[in-house]
Amino acid sequence: MAQKRRRKRRKRRGCGLLLGLMVMAGVAFGAWRLLKAPTEGLYPEDVLGVPVYTQLAPEGAQNRPGTKREIRYIVIHETGNTAAGADAAAHGQLEAKGGEGTTGWHYTVDDTEVWHSIPDDEVAYHAGDGAEGDGNLHGIGVELCVNAGGDFEKTFDNAARLTGWLMNAYDLSADQVKEHYDFSGKNCPQTIRENGRMEEFVALAEQYAQQAKAQED
Ligand SMILES: [Zn+2]
Repeated sequence: MAQKRRRKRRKRRGCGLLLGLMVMAGVAFGAWRLLKAPTEGLYPEDVLGVPVYTQLAPEGAQNRPGTKREIRYIVIHETGNTAAGADAAAHGQLEAKGGEGTTGWHYTVDDTEVWHSIPDDEVAYHAGDGAEGDGNLHGIGVELCVNAGGDFEKTFDNAARLTGWLMNAYDLSADQVKEHYDFSGKNCPQTIRENGRMEEFVALAEQYAQQAKAQED
């Protein structure tokens, strides 16, 4: 009887040791991630040759709730605005004025430039999945312009450059690059989806992430 009890106790001690090791490994991995990925938002002036203009939405504006968060995704959108002149500057200037309604997003990309409107480490409502949704809470919203007269192929490439730069900067993998559709079922980014080009986009972004990493080394 006494022997049996002792054996039981030894087994429990073994479990405790294993649990302790797992917790230590978890803490070490967490610390490594924190050291590797910045926790503050970054403000690039250029992403792999594409100029970035930063004009942030005012603090307290309806499109900028100001809630700090952990970055887990890059969420790809298209503006759906096919009017001539509906380019990155037009969307960026609208965001800088506080936008229309509570919708907000971090970057707008066209065929020549990028506009940065919300700090990457702050929540914005672009993914259509509500105040507790993963896309809104943890996604960097990237809008691709589809304006008449714009060169969509160039916009596609510029957005992949921005996405690759962000993947490298925040240590995000290809499966963390999402469509707006993934969070709310909206048909967005529409032309990319309808032409079956999301895989191509992510593969290109991954190439640019490697280029961004090589530039750092
Ligand atoms: Zn969208």
